Amino acid sequence: MPVKKEPLSGWGNYPVSESYILSPRYVADLKHYLPKDGLIARGLGRSYGDQALNNEHYVIDCTAYNNFLAFDEQEGILECQAGASLEEIISAFGPKGFLPMICPGTKFVTIGGAIANDIHGKAHHIDGSFVNCVLSFTILLADGSILTASREENSDLFWANFGGLGLLGVILTARIKLRKVETMYFRQKSVKIRNLDHMLETLNKLDHEFNYSVAWIDALAKGDKLGSGVISFGNSAKLNELPDKLKSEPLKLHSKGKLSVPVFLPSFTLNNLTVRILNRVIAFVQNSPKQFVHYEKFFFPLDAINNWNRGYGKRGFIQYQFVIPEENGRQHLVEILEMIAASGCTPFLNVFKRMGDGQGILSFPFKGYTLAIDFPVTKKLHDFTPKLDAKVLAAGGRLYLGKDAMLDEKMFKDMYPQYKEWLAIKQKYDPTGKFNSDIARRLGLGS
Ligand SMILES: Cc1cc2nc3c(=O)[nH]c(=O)nc-3n(C[C@H](O)[C@H](O)[C@H](O)COP(=O)(O)OP(=O)(O)OC[C@H]3O[C@@H](n4cnc5c(N)ncnc54)[C@H](O)[C@@H]3O)c2cc1C
Repeated sequence: MPVKKEPLSGWGNYPVSESYILSPRYVADLKHYLPKDGLIARGLGRSYGDQALNNEHYVIDCTAYNNFLAFDEQEGILECQAGASLEEIISAFGPKGFLPMICPGTKFVTIGGAIANDIHGKAHHIDGSFVNCVLSFTILLADGSILTASREENSDLFWANFGGLGLLGVILTARIKLRKVETMYFRQKSVKIRNLDHMLETLNKLDHEFNYSVAWIDALAKGDKLGSGVISFGNSAKLNELPDKLKSEPLKLHSKGKLSVPVFLPSFTLNNLTVRILNRVIAFVQNSPKQFVHYEKFFFPLDAINNWNRGYGKRGFIQYQFVIPEENGRQHLVEILEMIAASGCTPFLNVFKRMGDGQGILSFPFKGYTLAIDFPVTKKLHDFTPKLDAKVLAAGGRLYLGKDAMLDEKMFKDMYPQYKEWLAIKQKYDPTGKFNSDIARRLGLGS
C-alpha cells in the first residue's frame, strides 16, 4: 500500500517535518522496509524535538509492536516488544505489585524510546538511568540480521543504544527488570525553598533520607530570591505505613486523564505575567501537605491533562535540559539562572534535580545538577539558546539530546567528545547510514 507523507513533530510541536509513516505489526513487515533509504523508529513521540522525525524519509511507528512475551514473577523480569509503553506495563503488572524501575515525568513512553534516550527519573542519583533495568534487547540491523545485545553479548551495540537515538537499528524486544512494591503510594515531604543556597543545602540534608527528589524552580525570581521554589522528596510507601483508608486498596491503578487541551491555545497566552501567576499556583500545588500520594501524582502529574503541550500555541516550545558538574555548580547555576531571568524568553515549568554517575556512550546524565526549562519558541529564543549552550559548555556541562531541538553540530561535539567512539560503532553496524533522522543530520550522527 502506498504510504502518505505527513507533517510530524515531537512533544514540543517544534520543529515540524514531513515524513512517510510506516506502521509494522510483525518483524516481517519491518524487514520488508529495509531496502528503503533513511529509516527511523518512533515510539509515542514524547521526545520534545526532532529525535523521531525524518524529513522526506521514513518514520517507523512501533506502537503496534507492543506485546508482552514472558514474565518471571519471582525475579520481576518482563520480556516485551519494544513498542510496549510504561503505561501498559503499569496497567498490567501494577496489580501484581510491580512498577517500572525508572519512571520519567510521563508514563506515555515506549521501551524502545526509553532505551534510545536512556531516560532518567527522580531517583537518578540512586537508581541510575534506564540502562540499569535492561538485561538485554534484540535489534533489527540495517543488513536484516537480528542480534541480541547485553552487557556480555555484543556489548558495544548494547552500550551505544543507550542515548543512541534509534540510529543503530529498530529495537524489537527487551528483557527488563521491574521493581517489587508493597503499595502504589509514596510517602512524600515538600519543602518550600527560599533561594539557591537553601535549595542545595536542603538537597544535601534530605537526599539521604529519601530515594526520590525533584525541585520546581521559579526561573523568573531574581536577587535574594534567585533559585526559590519547592522540593518534593519521596519514598515508596510500605503497606503498614499507609493510613487505613488507603490500606484497603494498596495496589490501586491510575484512572485515565480526564482534562484535555482540545486545541492549540493562542501564542500570547504565555507571557511573563501569566507565567508569574502560574508559578505561584505551581508552588502552592507542589507544596502539598499530603503525606501519602498515589504514584500517578508522584511520578506523572502532567499526564492528568491530555495534550497539555498545545498550551504553548502552534509555534511550539522546547525543553532545554542541561547537566553541569557539582564542582563550582552553585556559582554556575547562579549565572545561568540570571541569564535566563534576564533573557525575556518566558521560562516555564523549570525542574531541578540531582544526578548520579552516568553510563552509556551518548547517555545524558552524569554526576551533577540538572535543570529542565520549557521555553516557547520565538525569534528571541533562537538568539538566546546559543549563548546558553556556550555557558553550559563553559560550566563543563551538556544538553539532553532526547529533548534538544536547537543545538548545532559543533556545540554538540564539544559537549559530547565521546561521539567519535559512538560513530565508530555506528559505522560497524550501519555503514551506509540507513538509520537516520532530523536530529542525526543536525548533529552529524547520521553515518
Ligand atoms: C511530560 C514529559 C516528561 C518527561 N520527563 C522525562 C524525565 O523525567 N526523564 C527523561 O529522561 N525523559 C523525560 N521525558 C522524555 C521522554 O522520556 C523521552 O523522550 C522518551 O524517549 C520518549 O519515548 P517515546 O516512546 O515517546 O519515544 P519517541 O519520542 O517516539 O522516540 C524517541 C527516540 O527513541 C527512538 N526509538 C523509539 N522506538 C524505538 C525502537 N523500537 N527502536 C529504536 N529506537 C527507537 C526514536 O528513534 C527516537 O530517537 C519526558 C517527556 C515528556 C513529554
